[in-house]
Amino acid sequence: MSQLELVPTTPVEQPRPGSRADRMRKPLAKDALKQLAEENGVCVRPLALRRTDTATGLTEVVEVPCGATLAVKCKPCAERGRRLRIQQIREGWHLADEPAVRPDKPGEDVLALVRVRAHLEFEREALHYQPMTPDERAAQIADVDAAIAELDEALAETSLRGHLTPKERDERPRRKRSTRRRQDSPDLPRLPVDPRTVGRAYSGKAGKTHRPSMLVTLTLGSHGPVHSHLRRGAYVAPCECGQRHGPYDDVLGTPVDPTSYDYRRAALDSIHFARVLDRWWQNVRRAAGWNVQYAGAVELQRRLAPHAHFAIRGTLPRRLLKQIAAATYHQVWWPRFDELVYPVDKPPVWDVDQQAYVDPKTREPLTTWGEALDALEEPDSRPAYVARLGRIDARGIEQGSKDAERSIRYVTKYVTKDLTDQARPRSDAQKAHFDRLHAELSVLPCSPTCANWLLYGVQPDGVKAGLTPGRCTGKVHQRSTLGFTGRRVLVSRQWSGKTLADHRADNRSWVRAILAGGMADTPEHDQTADETDGPKRYRFELARPEDPDVPPLEHRLLRAISARIRWRADLDTARLRTAAAVSATDQPAALAA
Ligand SMILES: [Zn+2]
Ligand SMILES: [Zn+2]
Ligand SMILES: [Zn+2]
Repeated sequence: MSQLELVPTTPVEQPRPGSRADRMRKPLAKDALKQLAEENGVCVRPLALRRTDTATGLTEVVEVPCGATLAVKCKPCAERGRRLRIQQIREGWHLADEPAVRPDKPGEDVLALVRVRAHLEFEREALHYQPMTPDERAAQIADVDAAIAELDEALAETSLRGHLTPKERDERPRRKRSTRRRQDSPDLPRLPVDPRTVGRAYSGKAGKTHRPSMLVTLTLGSHGPVHSHLRRGAYVAPCECGQRHGPYDDVLGTPVDPTSYDYRRAALDSIHFARVLDRWWQNVRRAAGWNVQYAGAVELQRRLAPHAHFAIRGTLPRRLLKQIAAATYHQVWWPRFDELVYPVDKPPVWDVDQQAYVDPKTREPLTTWGEALDALEEPDSRPAYVARLGRIDARGIEQGSKDAERSIRYVTKYVTKDLTDQARPRSDAQKAHFDRLHAELSVLPCSPTCANWLLYGVQPDGVKAGLTPGRCTGKVHQRSTLGFTGRRVLVSRQWSGKTLADHRADNRSWVRAILAGGMADTPEHDQTADETDGPKRYRFELARPEDPDVPPLEHRLLRAISARIRWRADLDTARLRTAAAVSATDQPAALAA
């Protein structure tokens, strides 16, 4: 419109009706379908399952939402997942009773099997020390292994959960390394950990009980000063550079002095941040002396360093939290990689005869992974890197307060986005900062098998031909992670005593309770309604889109959208009708609608 006003002399040409340009301007049918599905909370890439009723022999194709956690993959599913997270955090935060479900004691049948299994294991080991020919030994070990396999199958039929032993038997000689012990000496109080997981309650005025909890933010230390918007109330404080930056300033988050900014440490801290968080929770539990529970998420700060927000159930003294943060570190017991020995464009080369990477000039083989680890056994060896926690901010949160609700939204705000999504650089300065950090990440080793070890004169673990340093495909090196590859959402085991699937089931039964007065369950919106018939009644298999009984995705989407619209209308009517009967307090807000 404004263009027409600005240039009245040259009328904007409308594309000729029927021309290619005209056709290109029309909205795409597939976009319309996707938009409608998203607006109605219908999964945009549902899986088709073929359900066979073993009683009648009838088969039917049913839809299952894809369950993606990232909005770029499927917005409705990611949004639904986020709402369940919110519900999970809300339910667990101020629990008054222990959520722990104690597992049943194993029965005598199970114990008897495990006992036999123990004898077999002993027998197998003993075969190594009995005099016999190698062939005899191999044959006898194979016999024992067959017996073990049979027994494991019998164990799998019992009520025992999890595996008794690792899946694969590792026949390589064990490397005796003391890294575990060396990890473990933070200067902190160490108390035996009480199994209690709920916080203390305090009685207040008028017989009210307070059950305070906390919200903590864990941040990495400084890698150099960055431009910051520092607001204290109405006052904007000057940044390190002397200026006062607005909240949307282009330089925010970028180093004040890019040449002295410690990109190497910034990159390594990102890579190992997940482990630092693990150590932190171990330390918290030991120092506090009870089984502290948490639920939170990892986000990127504007300076592109990961940090984490956690809801903690119960309270801990702020001073103790600060002390734990200061004493928390993770040691990386890898060969040293302080300096690049070879440039990315002139890396060591593979020598077929020696089956090793060699120096391109001298043809001398590089140190092997095993040799490098052996060197770490020397008494005076030091870890290649120590990642530490920086700051901790903690505040108390009162149960059921507006503050609690706001904090839950805050923690879950970005969980449907890729880590780097909300820290996407906008200005040139921010782009340069992002690129520089990514460049650092692309030459650091991400794991013992990373090709980048070659740059530091070490052959990676499990070395083979065809490794290209600087081109490792590990997630650490990707722009979408910027080094952090741990889990985004961290919820401790005994937070709400429920998994997301349990919360989802809770919502379903609530919906069903409402609909009971208004409308019967229909298969379109609740495929699990028949679960009561016993889990064995239906057999499920994944149906492929090209299978003849699977309708095209578009037809399935249209049907799902229609079903959802009708269902929601029914739900609204039923809700009005049963409003009086359903108590407002026990309706989960994150309704799976
Ligand atoms: Zn989906
Ligand atoms: Zn500044
Ligand atoms: Zn790598």
